[in-house]
Amino acid sequence: MRIATYHRKRGDYVAFVRGENEWARTRRWDRIYVSSLFTWELPRTADTVNCYNKSVSEAKDIFVGGVAVTLFPSYIKERCQCTVIEGPLDMPGRLGPGSPAIAKLVPDYSILGRVKRKHEYFPRNAYFVRITKGCIRTCSFCAVPRLEKEFGIMSPLREQITKAIAEHGEKQHLVVMDNNILGIEGVEDIFEEIQDLGFKSGARRKGRERTVDFNQGLDARLISSKPALAKMLASVCVSPIRLAFDFIQIRPAYERAIRLLAAEGFHEFTNYMLFNFNDTPRDLYDRLWANANLNKELGIRITGFPMRFIPMDDVNRRHVGAGWKWRYLRGIQCILLATRGLVSPNPEFISGAFGETFEKFLEILSMPDRYIIYRSHYANDGAADWQKEFNRLDSDQKMKLLDTLQELNSFWRERPERLARLPKEFRSIMEHYYPGGNTAPKTPEEEELAQQGVSVGYDSGPG
Ligand code: SF4
Repeated sequence: MRIATYHRKRGDYVAFVRGENEWARTRRWDRIYVSSLFTWELPRTADTVNCYNKSVSEAKDIFVGGVAVTLFPSYIKERCQCTVIEGPLDMPGRLGPGSPAIAKLVPDYSILGRVKRKHEYFPRNAYFVRITKGCIRTCSFCAVPRLEKEFGIMSPLREQITKAIAEHGEKQHLVVMDNNILGIEGVEDIFEEIQDLGFKSGARRKGRERTVDFNQGLDARLISSKPALAKMLASVCVSPIRLAFDFIQIRPAYERAIRLLAAEGFHEFTNYMLFNFNDTPRDLYDRLWANANLNKELGIRITGFPMRFIPMDDVNRRHVGAGWKWRYLRGIQCILLATRGLVSPNPEFISGAFGETFEKFLEILSMPDRYIIYRSHYANDGAADWQKEFNRLDSDQKMKLLDTLQELNSFWRERPERLARLPKEFRSIMEHYYPGGNTAPKTPEEEELAQQGVSVGYDSGPG
């Protein structure tokens, strides 16, 4: 959106499309910019770049930038003819002589209109701002410390909003995309400014509620150690409030932050939960229940948003953390399929979906996909038999079964031969995972799962 502003100010025609687009591909362009985000999407990014190589006069006129190429530039350089831009566009000249610091320009909100019918961007009517860059912390699972080494102010808020109003008119909501805004010195002034700009608690515009969304999650440890921050958040119309609960060790600070915020009147939370890093299934299970217990005790609703860790140089999403098994990760994916990745705040949902005990949790995650996805349908038709057979295995055999399932997934091309060579102890239970040796997806949900990157899908490929 900011690159569009730069070019429109020069008098250029700008169009925005998503990925490979026939209309854009069959035209000639002076420049094409391709953005990248997740490293596991780099294969698709490379295909997209290559799809446009005849749409420009020279290969160097395709510019590829963003998070993923900054973390892993060689992936694109080795596969595509293009100009790779590493790092943020926060200095003049990064897009050629005379180009300004793109990061400081007002986003061009109008470019999203072109893809509206096919893909809506939410929220539709909001200012998108970044006030700070970098972070006070250096979490090893996070790309921020590598991408933005220094923590500090990027662009004053009032200036961004004033320019956005002048160029694109007033907006209803405010989305703040900072990594860790609460850590910045002078954060009190930023909150006063948010209030002054029309986003006080309870603010309305044209009769409708206004909201402020700190969409990268707020730092629970900072709120816990500085209760004034909870008051400050309550002084503006934050909704929803998002915290990060990335590992069980921060539980005391996380719970204290939730209590402080609940006391200030916050009732709806959407909280990010990292897993598959240095944690274990036990750690995630305990965090799910910590949320369920807080819901019950405080009468609030914390919706969990589990996020699976993928290393920063991973291009296929196959990483299995040292404390995890592939089958467990797959099981979580199956549970979350029906809820679009969210964990409902309802304790009954958590009991039913994830199990009342940790042992039950591991058992659910070990089940074949369809028994997890259609739990009630298969309860007496297959799942009960599977459960009997699974519980007949001792703990070493269970681990061996999970490893075998992982191998069958990884070496999917050899799956039929491997299935034929299975140890006797697993032949019967394996029928539940690959009935009759058939590995094809059976239902739309299974198809969807098979298409989600990591996914694995049966005979559709590794994941
Ligand atoms: S606090 Fe958040 S943004 Fe900062 S390094 Fe850790 S995960 Fe990244």
